[in-house]
Amino acid sequence: MHRIANPFSPVRLRVAPPPIIPALTGIEQIRERLHAAGAGPGHAQRVLRLWVQGLPQDSGRRPTDSFLPRTLRAALPALIADLAALARLRSQHPAADGSVRLLVELGDGQCVESVLLPAGGLCISTQLGCAVGCVFCMTGRAGLSRQLGSAEIVAQVALARTLRPVRKLVLMGMGEPAHNLDSVLEAIDLLGTAGAIGHKQIVFSTVGDRRVFERLPLGRVKPALSLSLHSTRAELRAQLLPRAPCIAPDELVALGDAYARAIGHPIQIQWTLLDGVNDGDDEVEGIVALLSGKRAMMNLIPYNAVAGLPWRRPSWERAVAMARALNRRGILTRLRRSAGQEVDAGCGQLRARHDAQVA
Ligand code: SF4
Repeated sequence: MHRIANPFSPVRLRVAPPPIIPALTGIEQIRERLHAAGAGPGHAQRVLRLWVQGLPQDSGRRPTDSFLPRTLRAALPALIADLAALARLRSQHPAADGSVRLLVELGDGQCVESVLLPAGGLCISTQLGCAVGCVFCMTGRAGLSRQLGSAEIVAQVALARTLRPVRKLVLMGMGEPAHNLDSVLEAIDLLGTAGAIGHKQIVFSTVGDRRVFERLPLGRVKPALSLSLHSTRAELRAQLLPRAPCIAPDELVALGDAYARAIGHPIQIQWTLLDGVNDGDDEVEGIVALLSGKRAMMNLIPYNAVAGLPWRRPSWERAVAMARALNRRGILTRLRRSAGQEVDAGCGQLRARHDAQVA
C-alpha cells in the first residue's frame, strides 16, 4: 500500500557537520587587512569601491602607483586573490527570458545560487541553506548549513558585475536575511554606498521578523522591503512557513506599512500561488481586508513545481483571474513569472542538483 505523504509534515532537518568557514568572509576583516597594509580611509574606500563594482584595481583616473602607499601596493595582489576566492563562478545557466542562474562557489567549496535578472537586476543569497523550512522550497527542506559573511554576500554582486551591469538587487535567493541580520545589514551598507546601488533598488526580502522592523530604519541605507506572506490565514501560513516567527498576518502588514511610510516607498507582498491551497476567493477577500489603505503592492507568483514535492502551480487563467479581482478591488497587483523557470529556477534547486551530482 502506498502512503501519501502529508505535505504539511515538518521537514526533518539534516544535521550538518561543523562548518569550515573560510578565513576572510566579513567586510570588517577586509578593512583590517587594508589598514594593516598601510591603507588610509581613502585608500580603503577606493579598493572596496572597485571591488564591489566589479572593476579591476587599476581602474580609474588616478593610477594605482601614484595614489596607493607602497606597502598597500605590495599587499594588493594577495588581497585581490582572496577577494576573488570569496565567490567564484561554478556554472551559469541562461534562460529564454534573459535571466541567468549562477552557481557560485564560496571559499570553502560550498555553493550558493545567484540569479542575473533582466534589466540589470540580481538576486543573491544570504545564507547557505535556510532554517525557515517553507514546505514548498527546496532550500528550506535542506535546512541551514551556515551563515554567509558580509563579504561573501557582497562578493556575489562583485562577481555578477564582471558578467553584466547590476543596478537592482533583491535578497531573495537562498536564506532568510533576518536570520543573518548583522552581516546582511553590513553588506547592504557597502552596496548602497561604495556599491552605488540606489537604496530603493535594494530589496530586503523576509518572512517577517521583529528585529528587521527595529533595525532597518536605523541604517544609513534604508532598502525597500518585501514581505513573503503567502496566506492571510494565520493557521495556513504557519503550516506553509513552519519556522517563521509567529506574527499574525495583520500585524505583519501593519509593521511593513509603518516602514513603508517611514521611508516613503511601498512594501512588496510576495505570494507564491499554490494550486488549491492559497488561490481561492477566500484569500482574495482576506487580501483586500488586509491591504486596503496600506502602502503595499501585491506580487502573485505562480509556483514553480519541484520534483518530489506535492505542490502544483495553478492554471494561468486562475492566476490571471485572481490578479484581476484584486486590481478591481483597489489592490495594486502584479502577476509575475519566476525568472528562468526552465533552468531549475525554484530557490535551491540548482544547488540541490549540483549536490546530488557530486554526492
Ligand atoms: S522560501 Fe525563502 S525563507 Fe522559505 S525556506 Fe526557502 S529560502 Fe527560506
